[in-house]
Amino acid sequence: MNKLTASFFRIKEDICTMSVAENLKHIQDSIPQHVTLVAVSKTYPVDHIMEVYDQGQRDFGENKVQELAAKAEVMPKDIRWHLIGHLQTNKVKYITGFVHMIHAVDSLKLLKEINKQAAKDDRVVECLLQVHIAEEDTKFGLSHDECEDLLINPTVSEMKHVSIKGLMGMATFTDHQTQVRREFLGLKNLFDRLAQKHADLAYWNPTTLSMGMSGDYLIAIDEGSTMVRVGSSIFGERDYN
Ligand SMILES: *Cc1c(COP(=O)(O)O)cnc(C)c1O
Repeated sequence: MNKLTASFFRIKEDICTMSVAENLKHIQDSIPQHVTLVAVSKTYPVDHIMEVYDQGQRDFGENKVQELAAKAEVMPKDIRWHLIGHLQTNKVKYITGFVHMIHAVDSLKLLKEINKQAAKDDRVVECLLQVHIAEEDTKFGLSHDECEDLLINPTVSEMKHVSIKGLMGMATFTDHQTQVRREFLGLKNLFDRLAQKHADLAYWNPTTLSMGMSGDYLIAIDEGSTMVRVGSSIFGERDYN
């Protein structure tokens, strides 16, 4: 284990000995006002999530449709739910009635389906286009060109029930901070370029750049993130079993 990794794990241990409310406060204090914190509650039980809700947190993120729908049903209605994970077309209909924002739109087919289902629910669903910025090829997302092509596709201009609010990306999972920083900077540059170049598109309302997780949210904010998705640094280590 190198020095950086060792100190990272020590910080994680400190965080684990604090309460969920203290963790939340710590994260909030490190985030500037213009950045929205999405508390990523996937795998955590409702009573833990309620501890965070009771501290005033209202934006929560889940990565699975079933889990999101189940939690939304039993939790307070003023929560803004974010679907942050990969979304299959056939599952869109379960969330368009209530979801606040869908972060991982990566195809025209998916966007069409979101528009179709949101129309039935008489809603406009906020969407982010997911861009592939990591070195790993396991992560989903569009290339820069694919992202722009999707954004300017003529069929999108006919969609009355989606609003494209910006971009989302996940950096490579690595200790190399310069690499992570470079990947976030690349996404920020794309965001700025598309925001300017296509400012005339009515459905393109670029206010949101969703990047940064527990391990890299401070770097992401440095590089222009306006929305961070933080899970384990608030709730503690995840138990996937
Ligand atoms: C799980 C997840 C997060 C949060 O990860 P942590 O490391 O626990 O903060 C953020 N974004 C996405 C897309 C996720 O799936």
